[in-house]
Amino acid sequence: YLITLEGGEGAGKTSIVKQLASFLEQQGHSVVCTREPGGIEISEQIRKVILDQANVKMDARTEALLYAAARRQHLVEKIIPALEAGNVVLCDRYIDSSLAYQGHARGLGISEIFSINKFAIDKYMPDLTLYFDVQPEVGLARIEKDGNREINRLDVESMKFHQAVREGYLLLIDQYPERIQVIDADNELEMVLQEAQKSVFAFIER
Ligand code: C5P
Ligand code: MG
Repeated sequence: YLITLEGGEGAGKTSIVKQLASFLEQQGHSVVCTREPGGIEISEQIRKVILDQANVKMDARTEALLYAAARRQHLVEKIIPALEAGNVVLCDRYIDSSLAYQGHARGLGISEIFSINKFAIDKYMPDLTLYFDVQPEVGLARIEKDGNREINRLDVESMKFHQAVREGYLLLIDQYPERIQVIDADNELEMVLQEAQKSVFAFIER
């Protein structure tokens, strides 16, 4: 299965993905954890192009195409082989990030962004998506407390942008009610993790 984790800034995806992996391993599954944009050399380089130069303006469509390109290479090089070898793949961000951030928040259109991503991912839609729903204020406060996190281009975005990202995700939940499970990520991370484990367990054992 391809299981993706989605959500706005500071939702806790990156911490939870690792703990979910050990949970699944305890159940006897082999797991590959990865992240987007990145996960392999070429896509990490594309990540740098997109995110590192916070002071250089990037056209929104260019950004969308770069995310899709990074996704494609990561899928072909890492996700598909891992799935074919029988692993559960846990991916920190995937297509829904593009739909919410570039499609909705940047205003490029969810269906337009879906088209370029369909070209990139082909039949590899996620089997299950955990959407960690966090209020932007709560998420951004978490990031401020966590000194380890890298600063990036998105950190200069306004609260309005982060609200729009959340709205985008909420639209996607309506569009894909079967695939996307909502997890309340305003709670403490321990509780969020437990909810995530429940969802994944119910999906895998269904
Ligand atoms: O998940 P992570 O925090 O590592 O993501 C890196 C940055 O890229 C975040 O600030 C995220 O909001 C941004 N991003 C984006 N559009 C995407 C995927 C990620 O703006 N499609
Ligand atoms: Mg993260």
